[in-house]
Amino acid sequence: DTTASATAAPSGAVLDGPALWSAQAQMPAVLGRQLVIERAEGSYLFTTDGRRLFDGTAGLWHANVGHAHPELAQAAFDQMRTLETFHIFQRFANDRAIELAELLAGISPIPRSKVLLNSGGSDAIDLACKLARRHWQREGRTSKQIILSREHAYHGLHAYGTSIAGLDFNREGLGTESLVPETARVSHDDLAQVEAAIERIGAERIAAIVSEPIQGTGGVNPPAPGYLEGLQRLAREHDILLILDEVITGFGRTGEMFAAERYGIEPDMITFAKGVTSGYAPLGGVLAAPRLWEPFYVDAPDTPVFRHGATYAGHATAAAVAIANLGILERDGLVARAAELEHVLRRELEGLAARQEAVVDVRVAGFLGGIGLDERIANDRVADRAIEHGFITRPLRGNTLQLSPPFIVSDQEVVDYVAAIELAITEEA
Ligand code: PLP
Repeated sequence: DTTASATAAPSGAVLDGPALWSAQAQMPAVLGRQLVIERAEGSYLFTTDGRRLFDGTAGLWHANVGHAHPELAQAAFDQMRTLETFHIFQRFANDRAIELAELLAGISPIPRSKVLLNSGGSDAIDLACKLARRHWQREGRTSKQIILSREHAYHGLHAYGTSIAGLDFNREGLGTESLVPETARVSHDDLAQVEAAIERIGAERIAAIVSEPIQGTGGVNPPAPGYLEGLQRLAREHDILLILDEVITGFGRTGEMFAAERYGIEPDMITFAKGVTSGYAPLGGVLAAPRLWEPFYVDAPDTPVFRHGATYAGHATAAAVAIANLGILERDGLVARAAELEHVLRRELEGLAARQEAVVDVRVAGFLGGIGLDERIANDRVADRAIEHGFITRPLRGNTLQLSPPFIVSDQEVVDYVAAIELAITEEA
């Protein structure tokens, strides 16, 4: 799929192309070689130039029940014919948002959760960070404003996510180091360093620490043994809120409904998105513990208001799709299936690592894998070659390849997927 724009010497001219400005792309490098998806079935995508591609990443880790599921399409259609949405500001609500929140509270690893809804993962992170700051202001501990996050972390690209990410390139060229004040990053794997950072900064200045249970975009990094437990201990000892960002891991990716269960963590807030609707509608949100919501529910004249919301918070069609999606996960036993697929993926990736010298390490936690390549091989070249063979993998930080197919794939499809990546590696080696 090489074209003039990709291969000719750069002319310095301004190139034109489709009106759609792609995300995270150096535009001249993608013009003329975009993979335009026009249709999908289950785990397969079909492009306008006639290719059939295995979606080995479930899109951006979202299409957990597979693509173009008729039941989810029906749920959206039925809801739009009944009530597309109505906002949930002040005394208004809609029945789908209420029903979804009840369902989510029922499966939340945080006892007696309340549920805040909005449009996606970046939104959820903004919301959680604001609620953390609001919590301490309301408590009168007004200096507790700093949001700690980890090296290599990814939390989306709204103002908070951009600022707290441990991926500096997403902050380049925006001016100040952070778009929001009061952020700091800590070690992604060394608890002693985290503790030292807390002592240096001062717990009385720290509102919350945000962590993905398994770092995704930062390179598929499962937590070091004991890291999350240690983070929870430090947070509790120092009266710092713990926010677990389960935007990737929520709704089954780790073989449990939430990674909090896999690792035995009970955070103060969980952010979620992606898997809640399997990406069929933009929806995200926050599960919040009683210490966060109870003060806002006190029956008193001066009870505070949490001033956050958006037109699409609790969007009825998105909620209807989420309800149907959770029903499919349950009925089809897909969370347990993800746990089974973890073993298949681990077996295949360990075999690959044993055979291929260029594979430095493989990292698997849940049905989520990363292949670390040595410096002689470029992950983006391998990913391009895999696409030529009909399989999508994604280059991530640390010369890593991402493997996170939908939960509906067969064991054999995992075997074929890893084999295709192996072929691409040998071609590049
Ligand atoms: N948090 C994590 C851990 C993510 O992986 C992502 C997206 O990949 C986000 C937040 C942002 O979610 P969204 O892209 O839906 O805004």
